[in-house]
This record gives sequence, C-alpha cells and structure tokens, in this order.
Amino acid sequence: MERCNVCKNPPALERRVNNEGLVFCSDGCYETFDGSPHDHGHPYIDAYDAVRWAFISCLNTYAPAGSKEEKRVLQERIEAALEEFADYEGLGGEDGVFSREIYQYLMGLEELWDEIDLVW
Ligand SMILES: [Zn+2]
Repeated sequence: MERCNVCKNPPALERRVNNEGLVFCSDGCYETFDGSPHDHGHPYIDAYDAVRWAFISCLNTYAPAGSKEEKRVLQERIEAALEEFADYEGLGGEDGVFSREIYQYLMGLEELWDEIDLVW
C-alpha cells in the first residue's frame, strides 16, 4: 500500500506528490521532507496546486443531502475547473508526474460532477 514518505501514514484526500513522484499525506509532510526537489520551478506546479485544491475543496463541499442551489454552485465550480485546465486533460497525464496527477484530479472532478447529478 502507498505510504507517506515522511510519517508512513496512508495518504488520503490531501495526498500530494513531488516532481520525483514521491508521495506525502499532506502539505505539512511534503514541506518537512528534506530531500524534496525544488518543485516551485516546475512548469506544471501552479496548475497542479490549483487542481489539487479545487478537487479537495469540491469534495469537502460535497454534501449528498444538500439543496438544489448547492448542487448548481458546486457543479459550476467543477465545470470552471475542468474548463480552466482542459489543456491538461488533452495531455492525458502523459507528460510527467504532475501531468499525471492533474489528469487524475480532472477525472475525479468529472466523476464527482456525475455523482452530484445522480444524487440530487
Ligand atoms: Zn505524512
């Protein structure tokens, strides 16, 4: 099973990776890790951070018992993220670690959009 490279806990919703593909359970562990390369220079790091947070916050907002208005707002947030990062969906996750992660998050957001449609 995949484990955090710092605390050895299994990563959950807030998992993140560095550009070498090492996995961390949280930003805290990621920042603690001594051997982390300088990800901030990576061309995809801003998109990775943005999509990762969009995914985490949409999942945290998701409430199956919520109102129709909440459903509409959440679906619009998801649509905006999918549109903003459509280029990365086009890459199909085939351009390195961050590209792969971004692609997975976009797929996750699409799944969440579908689920919202079914549940509400
Ligand atoms: Zn950890």
